[in-house]
Amino acid sequence: MVKLIEKQAFSNTLLSWFNLHGRQHLPWQINKTPYRVWVAEIMLQQTQVNTVIPYFQRFIQHFPDASDLARTTEEQVLHLWSGLGYYSRARNLHRAARLIQQQYHGNIPDNLVALQQLPGIGKSTAGAILACGFNKRAPILDGNVKRVLTRLYGIAEWPGKKSVENQLWQLADYHTPSQHIADYTQAIMDFGATLCIRSHPQCQQCPVNAICCAYQQGLTAQIPQKKVTNRLPMRTKTWLLLRYRQQLLLQKRPPTGIWGGLWCVPEIPEQATPAAIRQFCYQWHIDIHDLQFLPAFQRTFSHFHLNVFPVLITLSKKTIKCMEDQQQIWYNLRQPPALGIPAPVNSLLRSLL
Ligand code: SF4
Repeated sequence: MVKLIEKQAFSNTLLSWFNLHGRQHLPWQINKTPYRVWVAEIMLQQTQVNTVIPYFQRFIQHFPDASDLARTTEEQVLHLWSGLGYYSRARNLHRAARLIQQQYHGNIPDNLVALQQLPGIGKSTAGAILACGFNKRAPILDGNVKRVLTRLYGIAEWPGKKSVENQLWQLADYHTPSQHIADYTQAIMDFGATLCIRSHPQCQQCPVNAICCAYQQGLTAQIPQKKVTNRLPMRTKTWLLLRYRQQLLLQKRPPTGIWGGLWCVPEIPEQATPAAIRQFCYQWHIDIHDLQFLPAFQRTFSHFHLNVFPVLITLSKKTIKCMEDQQQIWYNLRQPPALGIPAPVNSLLRSLL
């Protein structure tokens, strides 16, 4: 076991730093409730604070509490989440709100076990809700905290390894104070997000640099160790923008997988030739008036790259017999309905206006 840093001195130093440099006026820190903390924590997973702020404000405006969220449709939740990515977060949030409504009369439960039984809430998120929302002592271990602790203690192994993660949970628990728990939790998250950042941490300004192993040993660039990843595979799709006047055909994607439950344009595998596209259209009784290739683009997801070749197909008649097994709608470009639509599809829709 590593030599422990004196915990009282560490938390006091962190709290003093937080008072001077921490973020204390974020929207979820104002009128703080467990519900607002929970929504913010879910939105902040894999996402920067500045990106989250407008989404959070819009979401809270529509659904001020868990009961409001429980009463709405998944479609409306996905609509407000459109562009934020990682859509399973939104679906889980909605499912969890319904369970909270059924099991706890709309009140967020205030214990670790009950919180972790809700969809999308892991141990660290549950800890953050307890600490920041209920002022109850609970450790957290998000990516920022992992980075701070691995550097402070000079832990050179990959933090995602189970044994290392267990060790980090023990350290997180050890350092979590009984007093000022909400401020401490926000402080250590802010410390990792703004000072002890991934590349080029600001060690010269760091109030704990004298006790930081990584800094003292010149290892801040090596710790935390990055996950060894294989090269991401490439997938290629041709997107069919089937347009009739001011309407475009959209299909609802299956609930799981990439953009699950969101509305996208029909797609066919690989980079289709004009002949293959015409063959597809013929098969589905699509009357092509005009066919135009739009600029291709690429998106990267956690486990693959996606190459997209969009094709705008103007129809002479709205007689598509096709794809009856799929939920589909004619999306009005001038009067868009409230649907969950991924950001790249949204950009294409806007470009057609
Ligand atoms: S000295 Fe540098 S690496 Fe160590 S905790 Fe401070 S900012 Fe992070």
